[in-house]
Amino acid sequence: MAEPIARAIEAFGRMPGIGPKTAQRLAFYLLRQPRSEAEALSRAVIELKDLIRECSTCFNLSETDPCGICANDGRDRTAVCVVEEPLDIVALEKTASFKGLYHVLHGSFSPMEGVLEDDLRIRELVQRVDAGAIEEVIVATNATVEGEATANLVRARLRHLSAVRVTRLAQGLPIGSDIEYADDYTLTRALQNRTRL
Ligand SMILES: [Zn+2]
Repeated sequence: MAEPIARAIEAFGRMPGIGPKTAQRLAFYLLRQPRSEAEALSRAVIELKDLIRECSTCFNLSETDPCGICANDGRDRTAVCVVEEPLDIVALEKTASFKGLYHVLHGSFSPMEGVLEDDLRIRELVQRVDAGAIEEVIVATNATVEGEATANLVRARLRHLSAVRVTRLAQGLPIGSDIEYADDYTLTRALQNRTRL
């Protein structure tokens, strides 16, 4: 196979959810498209890297720092919802049932896979809560073994702040499920029926 095709297939194949067959199909599909299509795609990829940054308060991905949610005066600044990934915020925002702020950990605690406490934004969360305005921390990590371990870790690190309520999404979420893929109804119910951790 021509080297440039093999290179493209290899690059696509490194992406999540893309197997070798799909990678091949994508490469040959792009080969058949006009040059303008390929340029638009490569521009979109570069702009992803150049224009998107982490909000220095909540670590959500955004074009601005602070992000739109942190900068919005209409949000409830006494409640912070802790999530594993930025995509979880997209899912929760779609429900329109949470009006507070967020905190993105960027992963879940899983020492077996080499993700340790220091790899997550837990210290930054504790600093935020330590600052005083936050009354409730809602832990919305996934309903997985790692998500549970992460929730327990967050609980432990906030233990010294006895005035702060730490809650966890209700167990309406199927075991093993990701927040990202939960439907609006399930997520809204899980939020409303959250329990103390
Ligand atoms: Zn933010």
